[in-house]
Amino acid sequence: MSYDDQNIFAKILRGEIPNKTVYEDDHVLAFEDIQPQAPVHVLVIPKGPYKSMNEFSAEASDAEIVAWVRAIGKVAEIVEAKEPGYRLIVNNGEDAIQEVPHLHIHVLGGRRLGRMLQ
Ligand code: 5GP
Repeated sequence: MSYDDQNIFAKILRGEIPNKTVYEDDHVLAFEDIQPQAPVHVLVIPKGPYKSMNEFSAEASDAEIVAWVRAIGKVAEIVEAKEPGYRLIVNNGEDAIQEVPHLHIHVLGGRRLGRMLQ
């Protein structure tokens, strides 16, 4: 399936829908999740049209990949200014119930999060 340029994050990237930007550079946008699951809940997305981690890791340029990883680190620092520690989550594809078909990583923090994987 090809990239759906009508998905909500594509619209945010085009400026058609407002967002609360936390960080931005040439390759990456990070913004607050509209339904936060923790006191700090930020989504970090590549600006390129990548649906999934698979596509991003295979097709993105080295510069895009480096920028995304560094942006996650920068956002993590912002999160940790509040409370120590954070959680990173990527829901990828159907079984993981990925809602928005544009790669995004959730950065969650600001409180004790509880155990997730047993
Ligand atoms: P997923 O389930 O695909 O991993 O997560 C999608 C996330 O996007 C959800 O946490 C949801 O709250 C968030 N989201 C959906 N629509 C919008 C929107 O219009 N603006 C923002 N900032 N976040 C959104």
